[in-house]
Amino acid sequence: MPQTISPDSADQPPSKNFSTENLHSIDLDTLRPVLPEEPPLSKLETIPATVHELFPTAEFKTSKNLRIPEARLAFIEKFYPEITQEQWNDWRWQLRNRIKSLAGLERILVLSEDERQAISSHKGPLPVGITPYYASLLDPEDPLQPLRRTVVKTGHENLISPGEADDPLDEEADMPIPDLVHRYPDRVLFLVTGFCSTYCRYCTRSRMVGNHGGEYRFSLAQWEGCIDYISNHPEVRDVLLSGGDPLTLPVEKLEWLLSRLRLIPHVEFIRIGSKVPAVLPQRITSRLVNMLHKYHPLWLSLHFTHPDELTPETAAACTKLVDAGIPLGSQTVLLKGINDNVPTMTRLFQGLLKIRVKPYYLYQCDPVAGSAHFRTTVAKGLEIISGLRGHTSGYAVPHYVIDAPGGGGKIPILPEYIIGKDENGVILRNYEGKLFHYPDLDLEQD
Ligand code: SF4
Repeated sequence: MPQTISPDSADQPPSKNFSTENLHSIDLDTLRPVLPEEPPLSKLETIPATVHELFPTAEFKTSKNLRIPEARLAFIEKFYPEITQEQWNDWRWQLRNRIKSLAGLERILVLSEDERQAISSHKGPLPVGITPYYASLLDPEDPLQPLRRTVVKTGHENLISPGEADDPLDEEADMPIPDLVHRYPDRVLFLVTGFCSTYCRYCTRSRMVGNHGGEYRFSLAQWEGCIDYISNHPEVRDVLLSGGDPLTLPVEKLEWLLSRLRLIPHVEFIRIGSKVPAVLPQRITSRLVNMLHKYHPLWLSLHFTHPDELTPETAAACTKLVDAGIPLGSQTVLLKGINDNVPTMTRLFQGLLKIRVKPYYLYQCDPVAGSAHFRTTVAKGLEIISGLRGHTSGYAVPHYVIDAPGGGGKIPILPEYIIGKDENGVILRNYEGKLFHYPDLDLEQD
């Protein structure tokens, strides 16, 4: 029976056989699905000084070297009066205490009748699951608050519209073996877990996440199969670990994966896709960062939705990662009523630059089943890019892409900047709408 991979599994001490020296030869059976003991957080986890400079108005309270913003303390005192700040800052406590039930949500939010119905009747994958930390960012009264809409289910998800599909990108068709998508020539997407600490209601892989024991299973045996596939395909130079959220895995397991991938000579570049810094920033411990640091070149693709996610805790998490030399890029899904306007996107992308995350992709929302209420028109995305390009730093402008339904891959979408041609060159429009002529002549031709 293969071991299933889930950070939800029972706490057990790590195997005595484990050490970073023998990772490459370790017997898989000795790697238990554990949340291993870590050094006391109070000795490790402090908010870096640079974050205080970024958030001059955020007040911190210090307790045994742990710092929690004032706004969070009020939430903890109201809903978790029995816990210590050390517990709150422990990512394992956050995982164990995720809000998953109707009763749990009703304790913290005033639910609308629509939300209550949708949550109580939910079946199958993409359950509601929210870390207490992320719940502290939600508006308890307003079901239309942007962050709340991204994580609390509503009845709209039960409406399937034309053109929608469970697997809108047809990833299954490009899986030569389970959990590995080989669509582009030189890179693969390696799905390593179906678990996320917080589930996004618009998730492209809603068919496979949060359904422990369901149709999609992730096991060490399947990891081995994917690693063998990559080893046997020398054209694969770039591996993206995703899921689910790989940063919810225990450090030992993630290190086992990274070390095995690093043993493959043709794998030049490893990326990890994660929303953890936004929804579970406590997980970015020094221990995790020190481990990741050993497997360069390693990049992280982080998922951010709204500037309200850019808290001191998230800034601290990103600071630790960047200080360890890990380049950070962000991916954002364009969502109706949540981030579909220029001021919100400007705040998000400029805020990301401040914490050294490069806005990389802005995705048109995929037509996943039950997502019509989240989708904007493509014209809205173009309007946002036009409102950014030239108006703010180029570094703050991501690539706007549509992941083509049916498996066509990412297609960049750009506003029209070349508006005409004449015999001497091209006519260009700048960000202010002014026209310019560029002499587009090959003078070396006869
Ligand atoms: S974190 Fe990513 S994989 Fe997990 S639910 Fe959100 S979008 Fe889906």
